[in-house]
Amino acid sequence: MEIEISRKNFLKWGSFLTAALALPKALKAKVLTPKEKPLPKLDSEAYKPALCKLCPALCMLQVRVVNGKAVGISGMSGHPVSLGTHCPKGGAILQDLYHPDRLRFPLLQKGPRGSGQWERIPWSKAHQILHDKLSDLLRRNAPEALAVLAAPIRDIRHDIQERFARLFGTPNFWEWNWPLAEAPLDAFKMMHGSSEGLFYDLQNANLLVSFGWDWLQSFPSPVEAQRAFSELRRARPERRVRIIQVEPRLSTTAAKSDEWISIRPDTEGLLALGVAHVLVRDNLYDRNFVSQWTSGFEEFKTLVLKEYSPQKVAEATSVKTQKISELAHEMARIQPALAITYRGSLFNQTAVHSLNALLGSIGVRRGVLATEAERYQLTLPAAYSSEPPKPPLAPSLHQVPEAILASTKSPIEVFWMERVNPVFSTPQSISWEKALEKIPFIASFSPYLDESSRLADLVLPPHHSLESWQYGFSRTLLGQGVISFAPPVLRPLYDTEDHGDFILNLAHSLGGPVSKALPWSTFVEALEKSAKRAQAEGQMREGGWWEYEAAKADIKSTLKTKSRKLRFSTKNIEPKPFAHEYPNFPLRLYVHTPLAFSFGEGAHLPYLHSLAGAHLGEQWETWVEIHPAAARRLGISDRQMVWVESPAGKILARARHYEGMRQDTVSLPLGLGHTSMGRYAQGIGTSPARIVEKRQDPSGQLLWQDTWVRVYGA
Ligand code: SF4
Repeated sequence: MEIEISRKNFLKWGSFLTAALALPKALKAKVLTPKEKPLPKLDSEAYKPALCKLCPALCMLQVRVVNGKAVGISGMSGHPVSLGTHCPKGGAILQDLYHPDRLRFPLLQKGPRGSGQWERIPWSKAHQILHDKLSDLLRRNAPEALAVLAAPIRDIRHDIQERFARLFGTPNFWEWNWPLAEAPLDAFKMMHGSSEGLFYDLQNANLLVSFGWDWLQSFPSPVEAQRAFSELRRARPERRVRIIQVEPRLSTTAAKSDEWISIRPDTEGLLALGVAHVLVRDNLYDRNFVSQWTSGFEEFKTLVLKEYSPQKVAEATSVKTQKISELAHEMARIQPALAITYRGSLFNQTAVHSLNALLGSIGVRRGVLATEAERYQLTLPAAYSSEPPKPPLAPSLHQVPEAILASTKSPIEVFWMERVNPVFSTPQSISWEKALEKIPFIASFSPYLDESSRLADLVLPPHHSLESWQYGFSRTLLGQGVISFAPPVLRPLYDTEDHGDFILNLAHSLGGPVSKALPWSTFVEALEKSAKRAQAEGQMREGGWWEYEAAKADIKSTLKTKSRKLRFSTKNIEPKPFAHEYPNFPLRLYVHTPLAFSFGEGAHLPYLHSLAGAHLGEQWETWVEIHPAAARRLGISDRQMVWVESPAGKILARARHYEGMRQDTVSLPLGLGHTSMGRYAQGIGTSPARIVEKRQDPSGQLLWQDTWVRVYGA
């Protein structure tokens, strides 16, 4: 029987329901007694400190533990980094702890590598296997055939691992670097003589011009970046700070800035040089600073005046000449103006940082400062000396696969990865997968069977950060050094092991210099000794932190070159042809990192999926942002499934019309598209890494934004 719901009978049914709900007499009534309430009995409840190690910010959290289970988290108030808050990723830490696909014991590959046939083995057997492999290398005097690829979070476990590699005698120890998420360390190093301690005084800026860095989403400390933004916006009501974002896409940072300058992908450096041209041509630069503190200015001046006129730059970047001129004049007027960028191409890094040099925005508050915070890091006691290492297999991390593939027999025989996933996190064209296939033995310390661990022989799940002693060193946006400690929140849930303990045991069983240099029986003992040296045993035992002074404004401390002057470089900013090499691929690809997947990680956590594409209501799939006018020309409707194809391959994505895209560019998010890594990540979406072309910079950085694509209906 169908009931037609008209307004009249809706009211009729409505009154009936209301009457039913208001029945005066119940047949049976029940009021729950406190005992019967379906709430767990709080036998025990505690709030425990913890350190979030999901990114290098190392926020301190407070974990609510009820009846032995971690049930809630909040930021630790007063901690200099978290200040009582955490980012969405930190908010998902309990999903990480209780993830149903976390590895629960060591695994040995039974069938051919990558076949997915695993056997559970005890830790003693895992230890023996690795011991035998490494002993064999030592016996054959081939220590360099061991390679270690470590996560870039600096703590005592990291130091134990690095010391192990050095004393074992291999020069092949590399640290991972996260895509699109670091400061321009290569330009800092080249121009200042060292990148150590240099940082942007972001939250005090007067005029902040970001050349391509979506810093609110992907700054090394998302929590602090958001706080810096509110400082910039609200803390100084007497003077509104100007924030300008130069980027191909209306990102979160661009949307929250005073001005968004839309630009072709990967041409931000050209724009910076166009601005430099105007500053020099119109005598707007800081002549005192340049003459007193820099070298190489005359060559720089000649080059920018000859090659980077606003007309030429406008043609390449699509930013109008008038805007280039206005930007230069504004940066000269509001002092000190701060030009920031990320660790992309050396060309872009150098060009942007040259603006800070021209404007005298170095060694001054609101500009670029140096901090000595790093010297407060805990260090392992028992200094050691080792043979001077031979040169590594490749000059930079991402040249390693090529070096392995170029030899008939892999020069690396034992490859050991710690919480890194190079197969997923780099463009497929870099061939980490093929290189790993060629290495005879791989061990992976990983909590999940990710794409790289799947190719390993041995997978060793470490304790979760909430299950083990934690120490971390981080630096606040003010340049303060912070060392933080947290004891385990819970006992380990599974048959996992402390990564530090495993390496120490391995060192002792191998004997020789590696054992002598790592004399502690457990990681906690090494941590205790290190904390004692810093008189921080109290913080270590109970959980807590030490903070050290913020950076001082001082130009000399930023300069580590022999001449004690900042070097302008022309070598890295020689003009390059702005060529469109692929006429069949008319669109540029711009890869962006949603906050939920900052550093390209986090897709295994369901909570983060729900936040990833919030501006378009997108979740649990990969979307490609395309300007509605460009989509119309291509006959692509909103929400249609499309192929995004580059010369390197093609992937499926859902087209989403987005006014915040340039018409000549489309954008894909980084972080989705796992083929492994557990039920919430595997098979969800596609990864732009599959179509990003293999392009490396002389600095060894991957060029994520230098790919041409075409888009068509699937
Ligand atoms: S910023 Fe977020 S992910 Fe990073 S340490 Fe803090 S809470 Fe964890």
